[in-house]
Amino acid sequence: MSTTATAAVLRERGQREVFCGLTGIIWLHRKIQDAFFLVVGSRTCAHLLQSAAGVMIFAEPRFATAIIDERDLAGLADMNAELDRVVAGVLAQRPDIRLLFLVGSCPSEVIKLDLSRAAARLSQTFAPRVRILNYSGSGIETTFTQGEDACLASLVPSLPLERNAPPSLLVVGALADVVEDQFRRLFEALGVGPVSFFPPRSSTNLPPIGPNTSFLTVQPFLSSTVRALGERKLRRIAAPFPLGAEGTLLWLKAAADAWGVDPKQFRAITEPGYERARRALLRQQTYLTGKRVFFFPDSQLEIPLARFLSRELGMRLVEISTPYLDRQQLGRELDLLPPGILLVEGQNVDKQLDRCRAAKPDLVVCGLGLANPLEAEGLTTKWAIELLFTPIQGFDQAGDLAELFARPLVRDSLLVA
Ligand code: SF4
Repeated sequence: MSTTATAAVLRERGQREVFCGLTGIIWLHRKIQDAFFLVVGSRTCAHLLQSAAGVMIFAEPRFATAIIDERDLAGLADMNAELDRVVAGVLAQRPDIRLLFLVGSCPSEVIKLDLSRAAARLSQTFAPRVRILNYSGSGIETTFTQGEDACLASLVPSLPLERNAPPSLLVVGALADVVEDQFRRLFEALGVGPVSFFPPRSSTNLPPIGPNTSFLTVQPFLSSTVRALGERKLRRIAAPFPLGAEGTLLWLKAAADAWGVDPKQFRAITEPGYERARRALLRQQTYLTGKRVFFFPDSQLEIPLARFLSRELGMRLVEISTPYLDRQQLGRELDLLPPGILLVEGQNVDKQLDRCRAAKPDLVVCGLGLANPLEAEGLTTKWAIELLFTPIQGFDQAGDLAELFARPLVRDSLLVA
């Protein structure tokens, strides 16, 4: 166990209970509207995508699975020829597609299928109509939000370079369009920009970068993307994440300070949104203040969420676990956590379940696999994955974010009444 200024960190290794990186396809394909995600995987991968996508299977989805069957595993078929055939079929059927990701999986890694070579080969075949990239969503040693990180990192080398561009801001991480529009308006009012969002809504509209481009992340799980942007010489603006009234204010302030915005002007522009958020949070405090919350490691959003729940809603933090603790990404968040709390990096699920049962928290934030058994034992749970499917960033979403945690507690109190 090591200690930091803010917290003890317990590192655990053992059995883990998380979804794999393929899950990110569900929100990424909604965001990049001319992209197609072709998973090179097994029937399990196809099943995961279908069930995670839920209601959307009735729409024409922009993802599919090229199934590696047993013949391929035995090395009897030429998987590359098969892949070329599937890609040609998808692109013939979908002339609207401009970007195709070949997404690696556990099976494609097991047979050591080189998807980067396949992507380079297919790019040549379909250039310039379609750009073809690859990344891995494999479940081995990953967690479900790392799919977005790997996807965005694969896209960074394609960002066009403009050597003489004026200073600009790149906001990095998939956001709901409504949230993106709110942030765009705030940055414009502050005079920060020009601002671009990455990933863009259309792959033909990749934001240009230059030697004076800075970036601000909206998600804490983008370590590889941040590294890739660093390699392209972009400057990172360190900030907490825009969750809650305070988080959003500090996130905007970091960009405003980098642009030298006058503090009075900053206050005048951000105050209405900040106050709206504070009022929305007051309504949820009734249900949440004083309640004890326990985080299992899952989405990598755990630390910013814990900061939000404790500082803005008065919840008590029992244990905060996160799959990976990237101190560079989370430094500003760690500074805001109350002293003396238990942080856990990694997972040994049995030991953690024992601690959780002993602590009897009011609310457990965890993955789907643990939620049902814990509910059956009488604990109240919140699925972490919902936080990725719901717009939660920004002033106008702060109340909704708090409500996501209040809802299971309200539901339980109604059942008891
Ligand atoms: Fe399962 Fe691996 Fe496919 Fe994910 S990538 S669904 S963990 S087989």
